[in-house]
Amino acid sequence: MTRTIEDLIPDYLRGLPVYVPGKPIEEVERELKIHAVKLASNENPLGPSPMAMVAARAVLGESNRYPDGGTQLLRQTLAERRGVSLDEIFIGLGSSEIIDLAARVLLRAGLQGLTSHGTYAPFSVAIRASGAELVLVPQKNFAFDLKAMAKAITPKTGVIYLANPNNPTGSAFTGKEFNEFLEAVPDGVLVVLDEAYIHYATSTSLRDSVEAYPKRKNLLILRTFSKVYGLAGLRIGYAIGRPELLAAMNKLRTPFNTSGVAQAAALAALDDKEHVKRCIETNATERKRLSEGLAKMGFRPVPSEANFIFIEVGPDAKGLCEDLLHAGVIVRPLGWMGFPEAMRISVGTAEENEKCLAAMARVILKRTGEGQLAAR
Ligand code: PLP
Repeated sequence: MTRTIEDLIPDYLRGLPVYVPGKPIEEVERELKIHAVKLASNENPLGPSPMAMVAARAVLGESNRYPDGGTQLLRQTLAERRGVSLDEIFIGLGSSEIIDLAARVLLRAGLQGLTSHGTYAPFSVAIRASGAELVLVPQKNFAFDLKAMAKAITPKTGVIYLANPNNPTGSAFTGKEFNEFLEAVPDGVLVVLDEAYIHYATSTSLRDSVEAYPKRKNLLILRTFSKVYGLAGLRIGYAIGRPELLAAMNKLRTPFNTSGVAQAAALAALDDKEHVKRCIETNATERKRLSEGLAKMGFRPVPSEANFIFIEVGPDAKGLCEDLLHAGVIVRPLGWMGFPEAMRISVGTAEENEKCLAAMARVILKRTGEGQLAAR
């Protein structure tokens, strides 16, 4: 037999795109010999919850032991606070793991996974990696077109992925729009509602999805500790969903997916009300300042409910991001997410945002002088 290992990789995996992470700040600083600010990965610029750091340090010395594979304490706490039972809470290695597990459990060749153009790329990857067919519905005004998505449901649809607010556009749908959409989804189709940025949403009600949950058997709500709690590096998130689905996901996940340090930090972060409040308030103020600053330069930022801002900058978005990089500001060009003419800027601290606006102004001025201003 002349088969190679490569021959064993199925075609649907060969075609998958490679995830492009934001450039590490250390790499940029080393290469360009500059001091840089990173506004590229929607991280929390105010750092981890201080209470979480204390809790994490306290259990570090137990790292010779395996963690509680059942994450009992954290699940119990979340179940009580969310008003659901213990077996309706799943703890994952970030919400990323749960996005993948939902597709692995429910999808396969012959079925379809449905999501939107211009949303979080791992949704499409999870669908395609399951062997199912990926169905993408176009957006409307940089937002999920929920009516069109409802129309795209077929008897083969197994899972639908939504992000609210959406990454990378920052748009959000209302509870009313979501409930209308749910009415159109048959019980045998799972709706994954990824709420990674929901804390930052100032004009949509936080309670909507939780209110929809008891009425529907086909909803999986994802939350993460990576954003408002500032624990992205510890990799921990959770899902609220029906016990049968979570039990199947539990069989597939690795036995000790989240570390003891991450579990302890997450538990403490939930009680760090002051940190959460400060992060939400700072983000709202700084998001406004950044949006207004960009608008003054002639851009039209998409109104954002998240901790980042989406702007269309013209055909040379990549070049503009490169220029900003050389000016010490790392932002994200969005060609790989389906928007070749746009960039995403994460909301930083006041100082970081000032630096970003000043760098943008300089770069644009230079480009105007050189007659290559991006079409805006
Ligand atoms: N969902 C969305 C919409 C995201 O933008 C991100 C990360 O940026 C995640 C999930 C991943 O979060 P986690 O760190 O919990 O894996």
